[in-house]
Amino acid sequence: MSNAHLWESREAAIPRGVGSMHQVFAARAQNAEIWDEEGKRYIDFASGIAVTNTGHNHPKITAAVKAQLEDFSHVCYQVTPYKSYIELAERLNGLAPGPTRKKTIFLSTGAEAVENAIKIARAATGRTGVIAFGGAFHGRTMMGMALTGKVVPYKVGFGPFPNDIYHIPFPAEYLGISEKQSLGALQNLFKADVEPSRIAAIIIEPVQGEGGFYQASPNFMQTLRALCDEHGILLICDEIQTGFARTGKMFASEYAGIEPDLMTIAKAMAGGYPISGVIGKAEIMDAPAPGGLGGTYGGSPLGCVAGLAVLDVIKEENLCERANEIGGRIVRRLEAMRQSDNGIGEIRTLGAMTAMELVRDGDPAQADPERTKKIVARAREHGLLLLSCGVRGNVIRFLAPLTIPFDVLDEGLDILAESL
Ligand code: PMP
Repeated sequence: MSNAHLWESREAAIPRGVGSMHQVFAARAQNAEIWDEEGKRYIDFASGIAVTNTGHNHPKITAAVKAQLEDFSHVCYQVTPYKSYIELAERLNGLAPGPTRKKTIFLSTGAEAVENAIKIARAATGRTGVIAFGGAFHGRTMMGMALTGKVVPYKVGFGPFPNDIYHIPFPAEYLGISEKQSLGALQNLFKADVEPSRIAAIIIEPVQGEGGFYQASPNFMQTLRALCDEHGILLICDEIQTGFARTGKMFASEYAGIEPDLMTIAKAMAGGYPISGVIGKAEIMDAPAPGGLGGTYGGSPLGCVAGLAVLDVIKEENLCERANEIGGRIVRRLEAMRQSDNGIGEIRTLGAMTAMELVRDGDPAQADPERTKKIVARAREHGLLLLSCGVRGNVIRFLAPLTIPFDVLDEGLDILAESL
């Protein structure tokens, strides 16, 4: 069936509120390539939004899920638990940054992980306030939306949201927001709006995902850590988009050498099977009373075995190292493209969490979302799937699987150069 025909059916049957970046209907995928219903091949620089870090249909992950399917697909952890849940928790507890003993709960989606992190933080501190950042994205549930720092399109018409949520600007030098300004806004918040002793948690993406791949520096993360310690506030790192080798380390917060109190994980943790989690210091994780946490599908056995296989693949295939190689390779090409294109602004990367700004005349203040859209559309026509992001809609992010062969990566970058 043609993409055009399917799109027509989609418009008739599916609400417009759930968008699709590309009018391309996936039929099959393998590692870093996707084939659509018309048989056309695409190079995948999206990874289903940072999910298939281990590539589409990795044989090890597929085999683990197939074996689990033969045994059982669902019994519910809250009815009869199973060992893969425990094994995955033990391994993640060992991998999470910092020396404090950890515990992990599994859920299904990123937003659900965020919801639970806030529940746990409130239960552990007996406080209600939560501070998040402008430009942040934390999900589409009520608390997720409340924490998200971007109104259009995520929050329009959906409020009221849970209250006692505060936003301060995220330090993004390119947008003219310094770390000093961001920290100043936090101090101002403590003076003008809420005393620190009422704040349960500060939640931050170490590298903002949907917001535009702006990186919080190690110094900024360490300062937040110190402020949290000073005031008895919990530090939650949302590693849903940054996690699982994407940034060149298992978790991006490792770059700052800090220990988050709680960490939300999802997306790449199971390479495409829906599972998420909250990892945290054991004492904090145990604050909610029995029965307070959970969910029918939370920690699905398919997700747990896939998660265990993902951890093996990351290690065996040196995907942290590979992320750095991929990021370096993309940045070198982008810098070469910028030589003859003053519409390319800042190029940023942490491992393979790579992005470029599109601006007019090299001016950071003049975002160019129109050209961004055109480049994404043109690349698609030529067989490359790109994703845009950014509070100003003018950032192209590169999220190829970390298993992408270099010749396919280069082919994708050739298409990008042509599309520019
Ligand atoms: N937090 C971050 C940092 C994310 O990038 C996302 C998804 N883009 C979410 C939370 C929400 O995850 P999900 O879509 O699985 O609910």
